This record gives sequence, C-alpha cells and structure tokens, in this order.
Amino acid sequence: MTLDIIKEEIEKANSIVVLAHENPDGDAIGSILATYILLKEMGKDVDCVTSVFPRTYSFLPHAEETIREGRDEKYDLAIALDCSEIKRLDDPNNSFEKAKVKVNIDHHIANSMFGDYNFVDPVSPACCQILTMILEYMKIDITKEIATCLLTGIITDTGGFRYEGVSSDTFEYVSQFLEKGVNLSKIYKQSMQCISRPRFEIRKLAQDRLEFLEDGKIAYTYITKEDMESFGVLQSELDGIVENGRDIEGVEVSIFLYETDKGYKASLRSNDYVNVADICLLFNGGGHIKAAGATLPYSLEEAKERIVSQTKNFLK
Ligand code: AMP
Ligand code: MN
Ligand code: MN
Repeated sequence: MTLDIIKEEIEKANSIVVLAHENPDGDAIGSILATYILLKEMGKDVDCVTSVFPRTYSFLPHAEETIREGRDEKYDLAIALDCSEIKRLDDPNNSFEKAKVKVNIDHHIANSMFGDYNFVDPVSPACCQILTMILEYMKIDITKEIATCLLTGIITDTGGFRYEGVSSDTFEYVSQFLEKGVNLSKIYKQSMQCISRPRFEIRKLAQDRLEFLEDGKIAYTYITKEDMESFGVLQSELDGIVENGRDIEGVEVSIFLYETDKGYKASLRSNDYVNVADICLLFNGGGHIKAAGATLPYSLEEAKERIVSQTKNFLK
C-alpha cells in the first residue's frame, strides 16, 4: 500500500522539504505547516517552503518558520501537498524535481500523479482531511498545534463546512481536534471572517464592477495589478470575491479575473450543474467540479471574451 511505502520513506529520510501549490490558500498552508510540525517532532531536518505567506494565516503555529525557497542541496525526500500538477507547485528552487524521493498527496480530481508515490483522494474535501486520515492510518498522535493547522485547511476548503464533500468523517476528525483543545471559533474567525481594510476595499471595488451576463446566469468581475498595488493587496488576498458572485440568486457560474505576470488568472465557481473544472481544462487549468481555475495569457478584454463564451456553452 502506498501509505506504507510513504511511511517507510519518511522514516528513512533525514532532510525533507514540504511544498504546496502557488498562491497558497488555507488548505495549502494548513497542509504544509501540519506536515512540517509533525516531521520536526519526529526529529527530521525539514524545510517548509512557500514563496509567499498570506497574512491571514500568520496566526498559525510555526508560520514564521516557513522559508521562501528550498536550500541548494538534494533533499532525501520532497512532499507536495494540495497541488494537482508540477507546474502549479510553488517551488522556486526546483527542490521537488531534485529530491531523491518525491511524494504527492492531494485531493484534486485531475491530479497528474507527478510523484514517485502518489496518494490522491478526490472524494476528500481538503488535503488537510487526507492528512488527518493518513495520520490515523499511521497511528501517529495529533498534537494541538498540528490539529490547529489541519482544522484551518478543512474549514477554508469547505467554506466553513458548507460544501459538498463534507462527510461524517469530517466531523469525526473535527471532534478529535476539539478534544486536543483547538480553538475552533478563533480559527474560524481568523481564516473565514476577519479581513483587513485593504481587502475590504478591494472586495468592494470588485463588487461595484460585477456584471450579470446571460440572463444573470453568469456573474463576472475583475481586478487589475494596478488595483492591487493601489490598495496594497496581494494576489493571495483576493479570496472571497468569486464566492460573492456565486452566492447571488440565479447565478450558475461566477467568473473572477485577476491580473498576474502571466496574463489573467480566472477563478470560477458554480452552484448547481456546470462543471467548471471542464471549462478550465479548455484553458490548461483545472480544479474541482464547483471550484476551478486557469491562467489566460491575454489582455483583460480577450480573457473575458474567451472565458465567457466557453462558459455559455455549459449553461442550460
Ligand atoms: P481558485 O479559483 O484559485 O481558488 O482555485 C479553485 C480550485 O481550482 C483550487 O482547487 C485550485 O487548486 C484549482 N486551480 C486553480 N487554478 C488552477 C490551474 N491553473 N490549474 C489547475 N488547477 C487550478
Ligand atoms: Mn488549495
Ligand atoms: Mn485543497
């Protein structure tokens, strides 16, 4: 079984690097920090790499120990978490490719199985839930610090236990975390509710720009680099905008475009019947049925035109 091999590889390894997808969300950060803390407790020489660290998650234990790139040496083991494919891995020093052994643990349906050992469970609503299951399987005790990181990933990737994919297992794990003394209400507040003033202002701008297309079945809005600079907001702090469009009655697909160095990043959400991962696959992106993304290497006008016209084909 893959998990037994992964366990053996962890036991054998001394130097380990832990990585997640670019522009990390709560599940990515929760996954890498939980794994980092665990491996440190096991006495490993471990690095937790993320080229950007979103301020929202700075309340998490050991957040300040994350580093911006891997060191210039071959790690014994590299672990990629919450990442569907190698090109989305946030790994400025190519530590994953260079490592002796590569492990990929994830929950995206279209995972490209880029590790030597891959443990992918698309049914799981968060990579942090897979990690919890793995720790249970490996009979490893979860400390309060690890539970805090895991719960953050589960809360954020399920939109606060609201999305499909949340199961009785989810609540059993959360119950175990509570027994370890995690502060659910604090985690919820910090990761889901509380936003900085600049984030509030940029959400307001995106909301003012929101357009309804196709009889209100599509909600569309955008943010440019100039907007981000003028508000002092990072790309990783734009979460919440696409969900805002999705939550309006009558909307089936919410499309949010934001400018990056590679063009416009499209973030899509659906409510009922549209598989947005299929739309994003047409643009070399991917994700989940009701939450997906892709990068569109075009001007704003062209990116909007292309993504909206493809989306129309999926509407009833
Ligand atoms: P986002 O809209 O960025 O929050 O992403 C929604 C979901 O789609 C997440 O599970 C992402 O991991 C996935 N996703 C976003 N962008 C891409 C991409 N370019 N390629 C593959 N999956 C993506
Ligand atoms: Mn993620
Ligand atoms: Mn995830």
